[in-house]
This record gives sequence, structure tokens and C-alpha cells, in this order.
Amino acid sequence: MSLADEILRLFPKPTFRPYQEKTIKRMADHFETGGKVVLLEAPTGFGKSAVNTAFARYYNSFYATPQLALIDQIKADKDLAKYYAVIKGRENYKCYYEDVPVDLGPCARIKDFKCERFKLCPYWIAKLKALRSKAVLTSFAYILLEGMAGEGFPFLGRRDLLILDESHSIDRHIIEHVSVEVSPYSLPVKLYEKYRKEIERISKDGAKRTEVFEMLDEIYMKTSEYYDQLTLFGELTISNARDKKKIERWRENYNRFLSSGIEDWVWSVQWRWYKRERIPVLVIQPIKGSEIAQHILWWRAPRVIISSATILDPNRFCDESGILRVFKPDEILYLRVPSTFPPENRPVIDVSEGRMSMEARGEYFPRAVEIVREIIEKHRYENILIHAHSYELAEALARELSKHYGGKILTHTSENRTDALFEFKKGVGKVFISVAFTEGIDLPYDQCRVQVLFKTPYPDIKDRRVAVRLNRGEYNWYYLETVKQAIQAYGRAVRAPDDRAVFYVVDGSFRWLCKRTWRWLPGWFKEVLPPTCRPKYEGGV
Ligand code: SF4
Repeated sequence: MSLADEILRLFPKPTFRPYQEKTIKRMADHFETGGKVVLLEAPTGFGKSAVNTAFARYYNSFYATPQLALIDQIKADKDLAKYYAVIKGRENYKCYYEDVPVDLGPCARIKDFKCERFKLCPYWIAKLKALRSKAVLTSFAYILLEGMAGEGFPFLGRRDLLILDESHSIDRHIIEHVSVEVSPYSLPVKLYEKYRKEIERISKDGAKRTEVFEMLDEIYMKTSEYYDQLTLFGELTISNARDKKKIERWRENYNRFLSSGIEDWVWSVQWRWYKRERIPVLVIQPIKGSEIAQHILWWRAPRVIISSATILDPNRFCDESGILRVFKPDEILYLRVPSTFPPENRPVIDVSEGRMSMEARGEYFPRAVEIVREIIEKHRYENILIHAHSYELAEALARELSKHYGGKILTHTSENRTDALFEFKKGVGKVFISVAFTEGIDLPYDQCRVQVLFKTPYPDIKDRRVAVRLNRGEYNWYYLETVKQAIQAYGRAVRAPDDRAVFYVVDGSFRWLCKRTWRWLPGWFKEVLPPTCRPKYEGGV
């Protein structure tokens, strides 16, 4: 029996959806003939999880995704769930003794504590089950973190196959995972507060690289002192245990930063929400994640399946994610699958009359607001999701729209995202002005009938990592990152063949972006683009 036949026999659903059988055969043939990597680009509705599960059942495997909602979806699917042991980070499980997460339980707080109920600890039950299971379902973050300090033995180690689903931004996840931040999220709050004013000053006046690195050195020393103080006592409070954990993680990332060629790292100041306040955060990140990926990700398995709706340019994708540092080009197969959702159910309508770029925004913004109002009037009784891209723009738009629509308008901060989304989903005729809700959420049927791309999601050029890459002339990377986010945003609303939603474009720079990246766009997206977004040779205007 060929490998393809064996894997087809393990397909977990009673019937195949269009393209699934053919795709499995091509993937299996690739592995059987010595191939190591499959990049599977398939839109919503193809059934990636079922295809991936057939392979996860055959090999000893990891199935990881950055989107926690996808883990819940698989757990809720009776045809898929039974094949997986699920494991997440320790903060997701409750201690058997106390009403605290496992990472803050007595074993993490009390010196030399020997847990007598170890076998009843929910985290360790899940971990032991994962160790014994053929297929492990987990988060992308856990795959990166597990096997490092803090998670404890035994480690899940290496398996035969690593499946990464919805993983179009591997490089970004790696970069975020290893970044060194001076923020209240990553350091004890009182330590952050010591540097807050200085970070704010840097955001206005700038700083030399050496000054920033001196500050990091100083913080490193202070974390040592603070850590010693914390570990002096036999028992930590919950808050001290949290601080200890932050320090351990921070120092781990700082040491990696020191040992991995700091010339390729850049710093920038970002503004984030913390307890209803916008605060400055110093962020130090590698310009690219590819080199680090080979050390913290690709060692997990000799075979890889990466599935997503937006791989776009496979060569660039392999380069960015570090795959080419580990696998040879002829070991990689790229498959693109069409959509089965009727194009007429998911149109893109270009209503733009100007650009929302920084330079043009002042002039165009009032008219853009009017256009959004026309959309709201037309779809008065339907839920509308607006992609504003930045909090600044979201606030400005919310101010204007609230004058006319009051409680119909929903907004959010980085701290109440989940609650705000929940309110939108259960509402009727609501308008949700969102930031960074372009991926990881499903809004089927009446939960969202209309989306508005108010601002094309270009990466922030004030981010030095972005600026350095643009200075190096990496424009294709910049435009592909942008169009990837726009296509991901487009994919939030139509989730089944009989679902329907319209996607309005208010920012005129989207037209140019589509033309510029046309050759990499998937066919199912190209077919819904209006003539204004097509190059002339494709019937564009
Ligand atoms: S190992 Fe024991 S003490 Fe530690 S979190 Fe689990 S149940 Fe609590």
C-alpha cells in the first residue's frame, strides 16, 4: 500500500470535501519520495485541519497553531478531537490545591516544595498524556517555549512530523517570542517604572544605540539583585512569584540577544495600553527571525507541514521562516488550493476616494468618515467590522461616528479585546471599530455581514525593524506583509459556502497594493477584486 493510500485511510471525516483527496495524495507522494516540507496554501472552507489530522495520525506528530481559537475548534470537533492530546502553557491550568494557575502554585512559590498530588495536577496530567500520545495538539508559543527553562522535565522532544497550521507569520512569532522588552508585561512593574520616564524621553528625542544597550545592562543587573531578594525567602507571594517568572523569561531573552550577534537587532519605543493608560515600551528585536528559528523551532521534527491561506510567495516565506537554513529547496513542495465559496457571496467593493496614508490622511479623513457613514446607513441592521489598523485612527473614527450612532459603535483597547469582540458577536446592527483583528477570529453568518478596510495595514515604518528592511530595499517583503494582513482580514467573515459578507475598501492605497503584489495573490482572492484593484493586463483600470 502506498503512503498516500495509508494516509487517505486515516482521513478523519466521513467524506472528502473538494480538493482534499487530491491534496493528500500529492503531500503523501512528496514525503514518500524523500520530500521534507509541504507548504499548503488553502483558503477557509478547504478543511485544512482534517487533512492535517490524517497526517498527524500516521506520524508521531505535533500539531501547533498560533491561534488558540483553532485549538478550541479542533477540540470541539468530534471527528478530530479524539486523535489528539492537548497541551498548553502552565498558566492555562489550575493547581490542584489552590485556586491559582499551575505556574503560580505552591511548587512554584515554596522552596523545596514536594507536591504530593503531582499525579492529580491538571498540567502534569495533560503533559503525561501528551508524552504518551501519537499526536500532540498545542500552541505555537508552547512549541517554542517547551524544552526551555521554566516548563520542567520531561520534555516533549522531537517527533516525526511538525504541523504548523495558520502559520503564515512564523518569522513574526519567532521575533515576538525572543524580543527583549522593557515593559510592565515583561518586568516587575516597579522595575519598569524606574525606566519609564527615560523611555518616554527616548521616544521623543531618540537615543544612541550604546545608551540603550547600557540601559539594558543596568536592568540586567537590577533583575539579578531583585531575583536574589525574591529567592531569599522560603515562600513567595503570588505577586512575587509572577515577578520571578518575568525575570527568568526576561533574562533568558536578554542572554539570547547577547549571544546572537546584536548587530542584527534593533530597538524602538512602542506605545501600548496598560491598565487603561498608554505607556511607552522599549522593544529590542532581531531584524529577522530566520536564524533563531532553526534553533528553537525546526529541530522539533524532520518533516514539516505548514498550512495557511496566505503563504503568497513560497520562496520568500521559506527564507523568512528559516526553512531554507534547514531544508533543501528540492525537499519543499508548495501547493495552492482554490476556494469552494462562491465569489458572489464574498465581493470586494472599492469605495475609496483617497488614501489613508499619513501624508494624505488629513485631507481625506472627513470624506472617508462620510463614506463609512454611507456604508452604515446601507447596512443599518447588520453587524459591521471596521479594520482601522491603529488605535489612533480607531479613536478618531470612533469620535466622529459616535456623534451620529452613539451606542451602536463599539471600540476596544489592547486590554479588553476579548470582551469587546464578544459584545460585537452577540449584537445586532453593531459597528465594531477594531485594531489588529485581522486574524484568529471567525465571524460567520450574522455575526458579521460587512467588513470595512478603513486603512490598509502597512507595517509601521516608525518600527526600526521595518525601517531597516526598507532601507535595505526590501520593498517586496513590506508589500507582501501588508497584503497578507489585508487578505487575512478579508477572510474573517465568510466561513461557509452558504455564508455571505461584503468587504468594502475605503483606503485607496489598497488598489495600488493589489496591483503591486498581483503575481503572488491567490486566485480565490484575485477573482473577487474589482477592476480598480487589478493591473491593466488583468482587465484593470
Ligand atoms: S504540581 Fe502540585 S503544587 Fe504544583 S501546581 Fe500542580 S498540583 Fe499545584
